[in-house]
Amino acid sequence: MRLSRYFLPVLKQTPAEAQIPSHRLMLRAGMLRQEAAGIYAWLPLGHRVLKKVEQIVREEMDRAGAIELLMPTLQLADLWRESGRYDDYGKEMLRITDRHDRELLFGPTNEEMITEIFRAYVHSYKDLPKNLYHIQWKFRDEQRPRFGVMRGREFLMKDAYSFDLDEESGRKSYNQMFVAYLRTFARMGLKAIPMKAETGPIGGDLSHEFIVLAETGESAVFCDKRVLDLPIPGFDVDYRGDLQPIIDQWTSLYAATEDVHDVARYERETAPENRMTARGIEVGQVFFFGDKYSKPMKATVTGPDGVDRAVQMGSYGVGVSRLAGAIIEASHDDDGIIWPDPVAPFGAGILNLKPGDAACDAACETAYAALSAAGKEPLLDDTDERPGGKFATMDLIGLPWQLIIGPRGLAEGTVELKRRAPGERKTLSLESAIQAITG
Ligand code: ATP
Ligand code: MG
Repeated sequence: MRLSRYFLPVLKQTPAEAQIPSHRLMLRAGMLRQEAAGIYAWLPLGHRVLKKVEQIVREEMDRAGAIELLMPTLQLADLWRESGRYDDYGKEMLRITDRHDRELLFGPTNEEMITEIFRAYVHSYKDLPKNLYHIQWKFRDEQRPRFGVMRGREFLMKDAYSFDLDEESGRKSYNQMFVAYLRTFARMGLKAIPMKAETGPIGGDLSHEFIVLAETGESAVFCDKRVLDLPIPGFDVDYRGDLQPIIDQWTSLYAATEDVHDVARYERETAPENRMTARGIEVGQVFFFGDKYSKPMKATVTGPDGVDRAVQMGSYGVGVSRLAGAIIEASHDDDGIIWPDPVAPFGAGILNLKPGDAACDAACETAYAALSAAGKEPLLDDTDERPGGKFATMDLIGLPWQLIIGPRGLAEGTVELKRRAPGERKTLSLESAIQAITG
């Protein structure tokens, strides 16, 4: 992409309404535009990040055996009356009436709809287990939308739903999602810690929230800090094998949010030097709830014994749009965002310090072609802005690499290469710089 043709409305001033770094930086870097409280337009740069985050979530869901579909944003109120949640949900639900006076709602989640789809087609244990997911916009009329995309009213969520014949098999589906989540967040450069969460009526320990540590997080968390060093399952993890040892490893160390924090247990299980109190951002939650929806909604399957029973379900959410903000909370400095490579909107920036200079233009074109061919998706700053402004913009938007090309260096056969994270610049030949970026 050439910046002269792109749409990157960066702001010089820090917007007064933004209270936390990710919100400030997303507005300043031209990623986001607020259209109403908690409702945002994703501008081109933000949209590229959102798509990258979404794609990582998708790849890890697929790897774990979940199957993608797409359900609508609008749902019939009657569907929610079947589960009893239509009245329970309260003011967070955006209720809509169509021209025929039919009651609809903008979906805050999809347990009812997926159960309706499941029961229409699946009737035998032979078709189990199944795990269906979608990545779709949700609406929750939050009382206090704030912190930009962290707590929006309209937000993008991945939600998966598992269906199993019995609890034991349901636990396996839960474990698959647990492991997929460990991998998903790690691929985005995040350390997300699974923490014991409020359990449903089924009891047991079958709900975990995945929490990214950040000073600006909304929840207080208490954990054994050794959890930060646990190994992430590799891409070759066998999802059909026994995942319980991985789950046991991750859940044997104490980690809980304030809602379920048990001081006595914490102090008993965690040596004083390992205790860590921090704040965190919930980026995902996994839940096993058995027949909570399948029973009232009559989603039954016939077992091998010929007996019909309500299918055992779990649901698994990831805050896709919240993640874009959470990644920034975890990775920024005073100058701007520092994107981890896998979610960077562009892989590298090329700064032409003197557009119109034949040697600069030619070197930039060479770099642009080579990085494009290598799949690095470069952003070439070919604008007339002065060099200081170009450096500031590049630091602000946080691309992992900056390739700086100016007439003085070129006269000596060199360019400069800066890695955004540590910030140091190296002087080297154009070929070596391209080589360093493409690896
Ligand atoms: P929270 O406690 O933060 O309100 P939740 O527990 O109500 O979230 P879930 O129903 O578990 O949310 O939704 C799954 C995921 O969707 C959450 O883990 C979170 O990452 C994301 N999410 C939930 N609400 C919002 C929101 N208002 N804005 C952005 N992301 C959200
Ligand atoms: Mg939650």
